[in-house]
Amino acid sequence: MKITNVEAITLVVPMERPIKAPISIPHADELAGVVFKEYRTTLVRITTDEDLVGVGESMVRLAPTATRDIVEYLKPILIGKDPFDIERIWDLLYGAMMNRGHYKGFFIEAVSGIDVALWDIMGKALNMPVYKLLGGKTKEKIWTYASSLRFRGLDVLKADAQRYLDMGYNAMKIKIGQNPMDYRKDIEVVSQLRKVVGDDVVLMVDANCAYGEDVKTALEVGKAMEDLGIFWFEEPLSPDNVEGYAYLRKQMNIRLAAGEAEFTRFGFRPFFVRGALDIVQPNLCRTGGFTEAKKIAAMASAFHVAYAPHTGSSSAIAMAAAMHLAVALPNFLIYEHMESDWSKDQKNPLRWDLTELPIKSFKDSYIELDDKPGLGIELNEEIVNKYRVG
Ligand SMILES: [Mg+2]
Repeated sequence: MKITNVEAITLVVPMERPIKAPISIPHADELAGVVFKEYRTTLVRITTDEDLVGVGESMVRLAPTATRDIVEYLKPILIGKDPFDIERIWDLLYGAMMNRGHYKGFFIEAVSGIDVALWDIMGKALNMPVYKLLGGKTKEKIWTYASSLRFRGLDVLKADAQRYLDMGYNAMKIKIGQNPMDYRKDIEVVSQLRKVVGDDVVLMVDANCAYGEDVKTALEVGKAMEDLGIFWFEEPLSPDNVEGYAYLRKQMNIRLAAGEAEFTRFGFRPFFVRGALDIVQPNLCRTGGFTEAKKIAAMASAFHVAYAPHTGSSSAIAMAAAMHLAVALPNFLIYEHMESDWSKDQKNPLRWDLTELPIKSFKDSYIELDDKPGLGIELNEEIVNKYRVG
């Protein structure tokens, strides 16, 4: 089998009204209008001479057409290759720019979308779900948490938490760090939330790097969260502050989680070597695709670190891909299922309408995957055509 075409498709859904930052970002007042002005994704569609079509997603946070252009530039490397030569293809793609400093960011996000599309093709060619190719199921169902309770005031927060409980979730995550200096307010909000959901529900907090280099504040928040029985403390510090994470982990009993901003096994290596994390959270559509995520998971396992896939502000394609990885990985902990969009008033059609997810059942916070070949998804072409740009 040979690859005959590679197509990158950028989808953009403008926000009808400007929104405030729904999660912590630095300089939120000035940046929210750029970062959160639209829902966006870049998809990769690869065709073979056997008329098989694979679909992948590249995570894009900004400039989604930049990622699209990178995929287009990589196309000549892919044409004529056998999709099953996945390790060689990955090395070729990585080799194109690695020694020019592009071993993170947009370039690896582009590679990720290609890699996921190739795994989708392999699954379809063998008439098997991708998780089978990844080593098969290590469990029948994947434990799942609702993500995320955002910065929307206490009343909305309580209502959303109740809604997740009513849906059957026994685990959920809340965003903190809107005003890093006013962290006592976060502690109060989380303690109010604890009262709403009760002691048996697994609660995580996600600061999205709010405390930056301020390890002392992060430590104080972490200890308060420990007292509130919070399951994990996610991304308190800047993503590359390995020493800061290692220090925090020694000082706190709460589990420390991070990794959604990191790329490839080489990026994750220092976090493992320094003992900086309890839980690692790569996004496979950012970090290098299935091919690389498997290696990061194996490294995590060697360091006794649990794997909790990030999905975040992706489309449904990345969510589907993460489910396949989750069910296959032996050191998988819990899967992030997106139940809330950036805007409270405008749903993200790329999350909700772009495809059906490969879910056979959801009960008591556990997802059972169906067993359709590949990623088990089909693109809604109406949505693709409606939001396609360029
Ligand atoms: Mg996060």
